[in-house]
Amino acid sequence: MASGRIGTFLQHRLSHRLCKGLKPICYGLAALNRPWCCPLVADLVLVPYRTCISTSQEKQRTYWKYLKRKVLGPSVPPYKHVCQAGDPVLRTLAAPVEPSRILEPEIQTLIRTLVTVMRRSGSVGLSAPQVGVPLQVVAMEFPEKIYRENSVSVREAREMVPFPLTVFINPTMRVLDSHILSFPEGCESISGFLACVPRYRAVEISGLNEKGEAACWQVQGWPARIIQHEMDHLHGLLYVDKMDSKTFLKRNWMEVND
Ligand SMILES: [Zn+2]
Repeated sequence: MASGRIGTFLQHRLSHRLCKGLKPICYGLAALNRPWCCPLVADLVLVPYRTCISTSQEKQRTYWKYLKRKVLGPSVPPYKHVCQAGDPVLRTLAAPVEPSRILEPEIQTLIRTLVTVMRRSGSVGLSAPQVGVPLQVVAMEFPEKIYRENSVSVREAREMVPFPLTVFINPTMRVLDSHILSFPEGCESISGFLACVPRYRAVEISGLNEKGEAACWQVQGWPARIIQHEMDHLHGLLYVDKMDSKTFLKRNWMEVND
């Protein structure tokens, strides 16, 4: 889940069309061929996703990226970036992690990458599908610094409270307070946008922690919203599926008019 920061990239100015003629179906096949989709995720269930109409925009790759890929080869999950809406992995039903494998290097590397990418992007929650791995792993953290970036009135209205790094594997969620609250939220996978999303006020999340130990957390307010957002990612859902669409906005919409 995204925090209030905005990342602006102007790479499109340098774009060089290198993949002209690539058919949309190639994106789906590329996702299926990902290494993480084979040995580790034996029970992976791919949900149907809509293939967008191909446009020249989605076929563009910067010349720098072309060279990097040529020299280093294609990057493989877990990525050190956040997958963006349109990537089939974000519409995939994440598979559970075999508990006996949690302490193995592959899962520990995945957890470390999740935390690194989450902190680098300034977000307060990230799920494994967002780094290209369709497994049931989420990391959440609401540091004091981000908490203080919000005004006192916002903190109180949204029931914000800082909390330390919390990792859940194979989580399940139970609603504790079905009162619905609607507040703006963003997502690193839909970078640069916000919308009001209705969420339950209080939930309980239970599962395993990064050491493979049983863990349970009962929360209300903003942490409960973060949990619901990340749980949705494990079910192939994005906040745009639940948002009040009339509140959907681009964060820097005012700058466009300057
Ligand atoms: Zn998200």
